[in-house]
Amino acid sequence: MTRRPYIVGNWKMHGTRAMLSEARAIDRAAQRHMKVEVALAPPYTLIHPIHREAEQIGVGAQDCHHMDGGAHTGDISAAMIADAGAKFVILGHSERRTEHSEGDARVRAKAEAALAAGLRIIMCCGESAETRESGKAVAFVKRQLKASLPPADQLPADIGDKLTVAYEPIWAIGTGNAATTDDIAEMHGAIRALLVELFGEEHGRDVRIIYGGSVKPENAAAIFAVPDVGGALVGGASLTADSFMGIALAA
Ligand code: PEP
Repeated sequence: MTRRPYIVGNWKMHGTRAMLSEARAIDRAAQRHMKVEVALAPPYTLIHPIHREAEQIGVGAQDCHHMDGGAHTGDISAAMIADAGAKFVILGHSERRTEHSEGDARVRAKAEAALAAGLRIIMCCGESAETRESGKAVAFVKRQLKASLPPADQLPADIGDKLTVAYEPIWAIGTGNAATTDDIAEMHGAIRALLVELFGEEHGRDVRIIYGGSVKPENAAAIFAVPDVGGALVGGASLTADSFMGIALAA
């Protein structure tokens, strides 16, 4: 099945209600570009307000806890973000893995909790600069992704809808230095092969693999032309409707 390019904005820890006007502008523009699936992952506090107003864009969260509830001060469960209007959750982002010491097993538990709550997941993976320099980037990412994903028998039948993989080399995030199209092609090809190995030919090819790391309107078209790039996870450039939709228009 050919899926629409998926362009997802990760607002990280940016945005108060003053940013709702930007979300509205993104939603209006997305209504004019239905060939692209546009989504936003704002801070938790903006999920419900954006969900209430949005007509076209999907709204999601940047993380969730792996348990349903309990004594976990400051955390939020998958069911809670779904209740606020989230349709998806980003998991395993390198900033979570680094700043909150999230290992693969924890990320996988979160994925299982999110799927059980009916959410779609965007599973992030990506290597550090040191790993790339050592020539082990592909092996590292394949191992990380395999360990972070639930096994095939725990994934729903509509894997292609429920799962998106985001390849985000850590050294490219927020640096202005996107990976080269050759590096993206090599990694997305390796991830595709892994998905086919894990989930079979049909499901493995149905999952979108999106790229993240310094995507901007200026480099988006070249990145989207790479085989097996099904969209982008966008940080900094998703904070204004102009730059974010500039990227979406290039897809
Ligand atoms: C991200 O953190 O998911 C990201 C891709 O950030 P940026 O676009 O700012 O590099």
